[in-house]
Amino acid sequence: MDLKNKIRVIEGFPTDGISFKDITTLLQDAEGLKQCINQMADKFKDLHVDIIVGPESRGFIFATPLAYLLGTGFVPVRKPGKLPAESIKYEYELEYGKDSLEIHKDSIKPGQKVLIIDDLLATGGTMVAAAKLVEQLGGEVVGLGFLIELMDLRGREKLSKYRVESLVKYN
Ligand code: AMP
Repeated sequence: MDLKNKIRVIEGFPTDGISFKDITTLLQDAEGLKQCINQMADKFKDLHVDIIVGPESRGFIFATPLAYLLGTGFVPVRKPGKLPAESIKYEYELEYGKDSLEIHKDSIKPGQKVLIIDDLLATGGTMVAAAKLVEQLGGEVVGLGFLIELMDLRGREKLSKYRVESLVKYN
């Protein structure tokens, strides 16, 4: 199945110049959603993964069912102030704006092999932050997976030391 056909593109959202990739049209499609998770699992089938991390909020949507399918746990990376227990923080740049992310200190055990999943790779800032958080806890980042990759923004270059997989590419 061509997942790209199921993604709606909205020009000028949330601000002028952004070509927003709206995944809600894919998510509401039963076969599209199933295919998406299955294709992500297929991309990493050669890897041993101990735990899957997903950044807030659209990363949660894909990381959790993938964790279920691969038989691992799921760890959320969240916007500041949302996690209740002791956490560590990393600041990063967005395609539109600046933000920081946090992870619970006890969520990753040293030496665990970690797969990080998000909906979309733009500048790569979010994923760098998530990977750094995992590494600060002693986890080994074995792969980064995205539903969508915006090739022109060259986020992949920022992530060149990692294995990066994406299902749908836009120029
Ligand atoms: P970045 O940190 O620049 O790689 O941006 C990644 C995050 O920003 C993704 O998780 C998306 O949720 C969101 N994002 C950035 N650009 C877009 C876009 N053009 N369409 C939809 N979401 C986007």
